[in-house]
Amino acid sequence: MGGAPLSRQPQSRPRRLVVVGGGITGLAAANRAVERGGDGVEVVLLESNARLGGVISTERRGDFLLEGGPDSFISEKPEAIALCRRIGLEDQLLPTNDANRRTLIVSDGKLIPLPDGFQLLGPTRILPFLLSPVLSWRGKLAAAKDLLLPRGGPPPGGDESLASFVRRRLGNEVLERLAQPLVGGIYTADAETLSLASTMPRFLELERSHRSVILGLRAQARRSGAAAAAGTSGARFGLFVTLRDGMATLVDALAARLPAGTIRMETPVRSIVRRDTGGDAASWELRLANDERIAADAIVVATPAPVAGRLLHEAEPALGEILSSVRCASSAVVTLAFRRDQVPDPPRAFGFVVPGPENRRVIAGSFTDVKYASRAPADTVLLRLFAGGALKPEQFALDDAALVRSARDELAELLGIVAEPLLSWVQRWPESMPQYQVGHAARIADAERRAADLPGLALAGNAYHGVGLADCVRSGEAAADAMTGFLVERSPADA
Ligand SMILES: Cc1cc2nc3c(=O)[nH]c(=O)nc-3n(C[C@H](O)[C@H](O)[C@H](O)COP(=O)(O)OP(=O)(O)OC[C@H]3O[C@@H](n4cnc5c(N)ncnc54)[C@H](O)[C@@H]3O)c2cc1C
Repeated sequence: MGGAPLSRQPQSRPRRLVVVGGGITGLAAANRAVERGGDGVEVVLLESNARLGGVISTERRGDFLLEGGPDSFISEKPEAIALCRRIGLEDQLLPTNDANRRTLIVSDGKLIPLPDGFQLLGPTRILPFLLSPVLSWRGKLAAAKDLLLPRGGPPPGGDESLASFVRRRLGNEVLERLAQPLVGGIYTADAETLSLASTMPRFLELERSHRSVILGLRAQARRSGAAAAAGTSGARFGLFVTLRDGMATLVDALAARLPAGTIRMETPVRSIVRRDTGGDAASWELRLANDERIAADAIVVATPAPVAGRLLHEAEPALGEILSSVRCASSAVVTLAFRRDQVPDPPRAFGFVVPGPENRRVIAGSFTDVKYASRAPADTVLLRLFAGGALKPEQFALDDAALVRSARDELAELLGIVAEPLLSWVQRWPESMPQYQVGHAARIADAERRAADLPGLALAGNAYHGVGLADCVRSGEAAADAMTGFLVERSPADA
């Protein structure tokens, strides 16, 4: 799938492709460009930080393996797994420990299981849903109206928020108690502004094809068999794989494959401008924070969208403005480990999510030692708590000590853990999670049209067509394919 280098026209000098940003998107793009570009394309990757990987951050502390950012990727989208296979990491892929694949939800201050078969917005199984204490009878009745309601929805070509969709189909309780924490948790977003079409288009399609979301979900579950219908509740906790020694393995393996001298660390780009030079000269210039200038024939901008907006403002102000307008939420991950004998009732689930009306300090939690084998010694419990996001920015603003204190307060109240942790680790991700707000698809289509008018420029990253690692790999590789194709097609006579 990596593909042989593209055949090229003879040209007077090697073409330079610069990738800006060394997160997973930029690394996947650079790797693909080297695979495809052959000898005639010189690839350069510029990273502002002193370390690669962006929000991917793995750390070993004694026998603990800690993830400060993403800890897995979805197996249904093939690009990340395909990349791992291509670069020799297949034998390190590790599934989640599915015997305990269960999601909990905070309800009246207690952790209770999500109704069996509940899938993000609606139930696939009626009885567990009716018996669950997560919703009141009034809430369950409101959800049942979905079975009778006619098709509704936004006008053709319009967009609708996740909150509006769930409220009109399944009622406010399903929204507040289940959909917002499950889907909002993935995007650290506010369901009131989150675009359904850009995040969960499958549910719009269910309404279109089956009229009722519940009937549509049940038909889908029947089709994908009993396994899909039973016990697969949850958002970020099902169908994921990881790498045995952590997500940084992917970052290190990609970096190691790039030719020596490709990567320049601690090299922030300040702006990108077009050069009106004509002839065979490179048509782009990157201006670095240290005032150095680098000429480029093609550029993949793989930074977060607001950074891309700043970088491109001079070259194309309207494009810069659209990208700068993509709001990004900040979040923090607090990792804590405890001695198992100091945890009164060690959880047997992948994690939990928190509905807004519960008024808690964290938005979700994940039980790492349950999810994966060999991440923590057997006599310990390893947890990650997520704070901040679009709805709790005041938590992200706390200093590290206060964040750990509030995470420990939550664990004391929800799990009865009052012991001193064996370790604590706070990782912060300021403005890292793009918010796919209502109108996102149209905004991004506009940005991509404008970028397509700039020969030799491609945008890639988590702000465009999906936030997951697999989406980022797809986006980076597609941008690299487009740019290597562009460079190869461009004969010196055209340049
Ligand atoms: C806490 C958290 C948990 C997550 N969990 C999961 C998960 O379990 N599974 C999953 O699939 N996804 C998960 N995600 C989403 C996924 O990890 C991200 O969307 C993805 O890693 C983003 O990669 P990226 O390369 O596009 O951006 P980033 O990781 O943000 O990388 C951008 C890079 O650009 C660099 N840069 C910025 N400005 C400049 C500049 N001016 N010049 C040069 N370089 C610059 C930055 O330093 C950075 O290295 C999670 C995200 C977060 C924040």
